[in-house]
Amino acid sequence: MPGNEVVGREELDEVIDLFNNGAVLARQGFDNVRGNCRKVEEFEKQFATKMSCPGALAVSSGTAAIRIALASLGLKRGDEVITQSFTFVATVEAIIEAGCTPIVADIDYTLNMCPKSLASLISEKTKAVIVVHMLGVPAELRKISAICEQHQIALVEDTAWGCGGSLDGRPLGTWGCVGTYSFDYAKTITTGEGGMVIANSPELMRKARAWHDHGHENNPKVPRWEDTRSGSGFNYRMSELQGAVGVAQLKKLDSIILRQRENKRNLLDKLTTIEGLKFREHPLGSFDTADALIFFMGSPNLALRAREKLVNYGVSTKILPEAYTWHFAGTWSHMPELKTKHGNDLMKSFSHSHEILSRAVSLPISIKMSEKTPELIENAVRDSLVGS
Ligand SMILES: *Cc1c(COP(=O)(O)O)cnc(C)c1O
Repeated sequence: MPGNEVVGREELDEVIDLFNNGAVLARQGFDNVRGNCRKVEEFEKQFATKMSCPGALAVSSGTAAIRIALASLGLKRGDEVITQSFTFVATVEAIIEAGCTPIVADIDYTLNMCPKSLASLISEKTKAVIVVHMLGVPAELRKISAICEQHQIALVEDTAWGCGGSLDGRPLGTWGCVGTYSFDYAKTITTGEGGMVIANSPELMRKARAWHDHGHENNPKVPRWEDTRSGSGFNYRMSELQGAVGVAQLKKLDSIILRQRENKRNLLDKLTTIEGLKFREHPLGSFDTADALIFFMGSPNLALRAREKLVNYGVSTKILPEAYTWHFAGTWSHMPELKTKHGNDLMKSFSHSHEILSRAVSLPISIKMSEKTPELIENAVRDSLVGS
């Protein structure tokens, strides 16, 4: 798993540094107290450098980051935004919160957006596509960005799970016009709660920055209380406490991913010895964050049985199958907005995705995975297949 395993001395040192330099816990104002201590700004600058993009905006959560992305694109009520059936519920919540209509594409065996399904859903009302790199594996960005370009639709990447991953050497989050990240406590790097927005143009960044802060333009000619604005917004600011932790976590990103990839490789070596297991497909040129290793069983019941065995063996699964209802649109009957396009029987609308997902078993990869774990998992999976 993730950054929460390596929260320690370095994060604490950054927080102590913050307290030793005026202890200003907000990113804005109090210039006479704080000296040059600006942790959120430092986090943003380092993040932008890491992703080689014009700027970065740290925000209060990954969900807020998606909402801000849609605001920066100037989407209006009634605009359609297409995302995918396998994602965390937050992606669709952000679309609804923006007043837009959520449209959901099917997935394929990459467990990310199926480009063909996307193409079939585009209408005159489609204004944006939010592609998700679920559990750290890059989506089919070459095809998806080509489709968006052809129809002149904005591409947003929900990179909540993909921070530090890349496709063809290009960082995830930098393929579309806006990329969003989450630093919640289960993600590759964490600030407890938090998120980041990056964009491919200074203009989009300027809009995102103002909107996340009540419309504040941070006009250097006037004090903040007389600040100028060209539109309304909201408050999704990140605090300096989170920024301080972020500065330390970002320095660990590469080593976290390196170790996760190593552990995933060791686990895969064991599982490929089991005959007949089919694994999640990764697009060519993928560098995934190795957050999870996913394989498919012959039926939904076998997937549940595999989880049961894994738990009995003292290991676990991650999201699939146990947290299915939080990550699959076919189960989101509590969202009337989804039914506008997809009808009342969501499970039926997404039966193709369901067929794939309900057989999937996702294994968590941790940084500190014990040397014995891969064999334990192999034995549990073999055991679950006995008599099937
Ligand atoms: C975690 C996650 C989010 C939301 O991030 P928060 O920081 O928890 O608000 C959005 N999309 C996906 C795909 C996620 O996994």
